[in-house]
Amino acid sequence: MIVMKFGGTSVESAAAIERVAGIVKARQERTPVVVVSAMGKTTNKLLAIANAAIHGERHDYLQQIHDLRDYHSREARRVVPLEHRVELDRTLDEHFQELTELVKGLAVLGELTPRSIDAIGSYGERLSSYIVTLAFRHFGMQAVHLDSRRVIVTDKRHTQAVPNFPETYSRLAAVVPALAQEGVVVMGGFIGSTEEGVTTTLGRGGSDFTAAIAGAGIGAEEIQIWTDVDGMLTADPTILPGGHRVKTISFAEAAELAYFGAKVLHPATVVPAIEKNIPVLILNSRRPDVPGTRIVAQTVACENVVKSIACKRKITLLNIHSTRMLMAHGFLRRIFEVFDRFETPVDMVATSEVSVSLTIDNSQHLDTIVKELRQFAEVESEKDQTIVCLVGENIRHTPGVARRVFDALDGINIRMISQGASLLNLSFVVAEKDVTSTVAALHEEFFSELDPAVFERNEAVHA
Ligand code: ASP
Ligand code: MG
Repeated sequence: MIVMKFGGTSVESAAAIERVAGIVKARQERTPVVVVSAMGKTTNKLLAIANAAIHGERHDYLQQIHDLRDYHSREARRVVPLEHRVELDRTLDEHFQELTELVKGLAVLGELTPRSIDAIGSYGERLSSYIVTLAFRHFGMQAVHLDSRRVIVTDKRHTQAVPNFPETYSRLAAVVPALAQEGVVVMGGFIGSTEEGVTTTLGRGGSDFTAAIAGAGIGAEEIQIWTDVDGMLTADPTILPGGHRVKTISFAEAAELAYFGAKVLHPATVVPAIEKNIPVLILNSRRPDVPGTRIVAQTVACENVVKSIACKRKITLLNIHSTRMLMAHGFLRRIFEVFDRFETPVDMVATSEVSVSLTIDNSQHLDTIVKELRQFAEVESEKDQTIVCLVGENIRHTPGVARRVFDALDGINIRMISQGASLLNLSFVVAEKDVTSTVAALHEEFFSELDPAVFERNEAVHA
């Protein structure tokens, strides 16, 4: 069995669903279990409807529900076989009537609780999974719908519910392989329910998490996350086009990349798969023949020192000097206490005896933070900085990486440098205006030669 997860854009229209059906059909002999997100921006729309309701905008929320029904019905009718149209309409009616009742109830109460947010937010995946099931039948597959709330059991932390793994795994193992005998199992991502059967959700973007949980529960041979990129690249394509595809990457490296700005996948979501040693593949639904990127639990042997260059943009650099001489202790504590008080995470830190440089991503409280720090230190802050991060497990045992970086960046002002404690990254800060030339120079330095076992050269640009 394999798990195949398709996000909102992959199921946003009849044409997109047809493409998904083609991809799944071509892999039918591997017994796919399909996890889908809500169609397009449906989750956002549902939350907007809930908000309109509690603000008493009756005309507005009724109109939005109407539009959402139209959208689902229009796209679904194009991919649902004629003989199932009556059933489709009935099911849409049922769901949208229920939703309308719920929303009207909220309007009366004028209050939105996390529990009602989940109740309303769940409709996106409940509808998309049902529609995709019927569509698969239209495109000549046997398909069975599974309401995820039967198998994904969570605690009561609505909008951020945490699965009860033993219970969820045992239900998945009891239900899914048996259903898979009848056809392709289709289930909605993101949603679950408490032991008592109350609907919950796993947090925004939770469908990847559902896919990993489902894969772990059924002992899938592989989990495929279908997106709109070819996988992980050696450089962020919005900064440097023409990066090479990374064919295999370790979970630790992928996590590091995600932390430093690569948006392909949130690593926490695939932990259940990695714990069970199930590889996770990132694949492109617009180019299904590209083999994508495989994320594995173990380290990946590689001739190259660096696997990828990630960037975290629009960060703020703070240089903090102690005004009193060498305050022996307590200086760092006082500094971090300020960031803590304003709930501002610090990303990178470098220290010397009397000064500390650090970066923050969220500059919402910057002015107040600087004011507070100035009570005991001199502070300079600079906006529009970028963290550039080299990631690769080989960095830890290859001498001379920093020298290569400095040589390659001759003439570019490096504002701060730090080697993460994980030892699989080397990060430094440059001004936003230097980011393109920085990434280009490093890419040239570290990826002119490629280990063919790990990278697929992008011939288009580097021919
Ligand atoms: N539909 C949910 C969201 O938009 C979950 C997901 O798409 O992963 O957050
Ligand atoms: Mg998503």
